[in-house]
Amino acid sequence: MGEAGYSIRLLEPLAGHTSFGLGGPADIYAECNSLPELKAVLAQCRKDKFTFFIIGGGTNLLVKDGGYKGACIKLAGDFAGIELSGGLLSCGAGALLSKALSFAAESGLSGLEKLAGIPGTVGGAVCGNAGTRQGEIRDAVDSVSVLDGDFEEKVIPVSAVKFGYRNSDLPDSGKIITGVKLKLVPGKPEEIKAVSAAIIAERNKTQPKGKSAGSVFKNPEGKSAGRIIDECGLKGLKSGGAEVSTLHANYIINSGTAASDVLELIKTIKRVVLEKTGIALQEEIKIVGEER
Ligand SMILES: Cc1cc2nc3c(=O)[nH]c(=O)nc-3n(C[C@H](O)[C@H](O)[C@H](O)COP(=O)(O)OP(=O)(O)OC[C@H]3O[C@@H](n4cnc5c(N)ncnc54)[C@H](O)[C@@H]3O)c2cc1C
Repeated sequence: MGEAGYSIRLLEPLAGHTSFGLGGPADIYAECNSLPELKAVLAQCRKDKFTFFIIGGGTNLLVKDGGYKGACIKLAGDFAGIELSGGLLSCGAGALLSKALSFAAESGLSGLEKLAGIPGTVGGAVCGNAGTRQGEIRDAVDSVSVLDGDFEEKVIPVSAVKFGYRNSDLPDSGKIITGVKLKLVPGKPEEIKAVSAAIIAERNKTQPKGKSAGSVFKNPEGKSAGRIIDECGLKGLKSGGAEVSTLHANYIINSGTAASDVLELIKTIKRVVLEKTGIALQEEIKIVGEER
């Protein structure tokens, strides 16, 4: 690695880049500010046989204590831009979802309010089809720009993206999301802001404070993972610095320094829930890296 343009840090601790505040170092942390920089980093990774992953806001990620043997790539600069283009809201993949929502509200564009309060980037949100009971980001997507395995940029219409519950097929096919066009409808800025503020206020009442990655497990069809964990009596269960939130049982709150504590707690929750209910919970959070 070492092309000019992008910034590279070696053995960068990833704890500071995730909302859990956990995780060992990435061998390489590359911040790419433009498409040519991203392509150069990817070409270098391929040449040096480095694996890589894209980090958005790190709000749905648990990085293991041994860190990531490869390159962690952050999309910044041009990738954080938001603009109106041809009646659509054009967002770089690295733009914060909260900024896209504010920009849309100021521009009198409605449709993202239901996502108010979800942290992270637009790219991360599309990758995992972020949403709430009120709706998901896929409802607003017009097209997604990606880099494929040959580093060619392609625009995929929403009809060709397979979105599911908290997932899309974009990462499965190894694509890197570089930008997203959102189709929104006209609305009054004050009303959009009021709806968003009300949703955030409601979330603040039900969402635990502290370092977390949001809901740890996907809701099994027709059921609430939080309720199941609660009914199994696991609220407040601790493993080292990790604790099942007493407010919302699908959140693990970290007050320690070891990702292994969170992993241990996840293992226990899955075991107890399976034993008591026969339900096999599946992680919603993405787990990357290696054990120490
Ligand atoms: C307090 C809190 C509340 C939350 N509430 C919600 C909620 O209500 N609903 C919800 O759906 N989620 C929620 N989350 C989870 C999280 O915020 C979302 O999943 C969010 O969309 C993740 O975005 P991110 O940019 O942080 O992605 P990251 O966590 O950085 O990455 C998530 C995955 O996406 C991949 N990825 C990210 N960007 C790209 C890209 N450009 N190209 C390819 N792959 C990419 C990463 O490699 C990783 O696999 C919450 C999290 C927290 C901490």
